[in-house]
Amino acid sequence: MQLNELYLRSFRNYEEQRLTFDPGVNLIVGQNAQGKTNLLEAISYLGSGKSFRATKNSEMVRFTQDFGELEGKIFSQEREQTLRWVLFSGCRPRQLWRNGAKKKTAADIAGVLPTVLFCPEDLMILKTGGAQRRRFADNALCQLRPNYEAALTEYNRILEQKGRILKDHFENPAVLEILPEFNARLCQVGALLISYRARFFQALGDSAADYHGSFTGGREDFRLEYRTVSNISDPFSPISKLTEDLNEHLSRHYRAELETAQCLTGPHKDDFEITLSGVNLKAYGSQGQTRTAAISLKLAQRELMKREWGEEPVLLLDDVLSELDAGRQDFVLNQIVSGQVFITCCEPGRFTKLGKTMEISQGQLMKQHDD
Ligand code: ATP
Ligand code: MG
Repeated sequence: MQLNELYLRSFRNYEEQRLTFDPGVNLIVGQNAQGKTNLLEAISYLGSGKSFRATKNSEMVRFTQDFGELEGKIFSQEREQTLRWVLFSGCRPRQLWRNGAKKKTAADIAGVLPTVLFCPEDLMILKTGGAQRRRFADNALCQLRPNYEAALTEYNRILEQKGRILKDHFENPAVLEILPEFNARLCQVGALLISYRARFFQALGDSAADYHGSFTGGREDFRLEYRTVSNISDPFSPISKLTEDLNEHLSRHYRAELETAQCLTGPHKDDFEITLSGVNLKAYGSQGQTRTAAISLKLAQRELMKREWGEEPVLLLDDVLSELDAGRQDFVLNQIVSGQVFITCCEPGRFTKLGKTMEISQGQLMKQHDD
């Protein structure tokens, strides 16, 4: 899929602007606070109805204006399509049109313009605790596999109920009678999650390793390893075996769970680990290495979506060039040859061999040139 044209009116700091894009790389250059990230936000919102930084839709309407508008011409699902949103500054609900027909919800435009975003906060995926990594993997998997999403929702619901039982049992020991039933179902659904994740992490890791290899000219050997419940030796085992293993692990922690009133074991603690040439990235990775690995992961996520849908989501790379050396910058600017890419950058004089460069100042397109 590809965004050919975007019209913005009273969106963030854009008063009125029409932009046409290259099917390959679009490099957006400008000083700080000129509207580069706002433009990526507009593209991502156009296709998803979700902003990666606004908490309310009204935030995106230009200050002092009553409403804002975004319209995009897209080539997707083998045809030209248009998407249009109108957002209001007050509490009036937003409006959406697809190909001129009014639509009720963002679900009505699913698949028209999916995007994969890399923003500086994504570096946290690789540097902080497991929760961020699980969220990244869960989001990616939910997009790829609706059945996974259903299983994950069920798992989280049972986990919450079990958590309540564990807390209540001190005052009301009778609640423990229903605990085995919850544990049994938790292990069944948990086994399903592990099975999906094993396949997902294998595919993601293989693809990310390819990207990371090209990124670094083969100098760093990228490995991704899925970490799940410790007594599971092979996450690719049949569901019945995984369920058995989970049950066994749970029964070993039965007392501890009662004492701490916490769900101590299960795939809600899963994580993944990345090593570069055998060295743990989280503990030892440099800033550039961390950034490179995070971008490789995003590229891999996009690759898996392409395999599933036959079309590639648009890639939005916000502020990725800083901290990268010349070779790695060259990879981002000139070697991501598949699909459409938007890259923002603060340094003037940058260009891409694979598309066009646009200069943005105070919410306006100043200059553009194709290479
Ligand atoms: P940086 O290089 O620092 O990341 P940027 O070009 O990505 O900068 P943006 O985040 O796109 O900058 O734009 C920020 C500017 O947009 C800020 O000056 C902010 O005040 C302005 N802005 C944000 N929301 C609105 C709005 N609703 N109406 C008008 N201006 C807005
Ligand atoms: Mg920015």
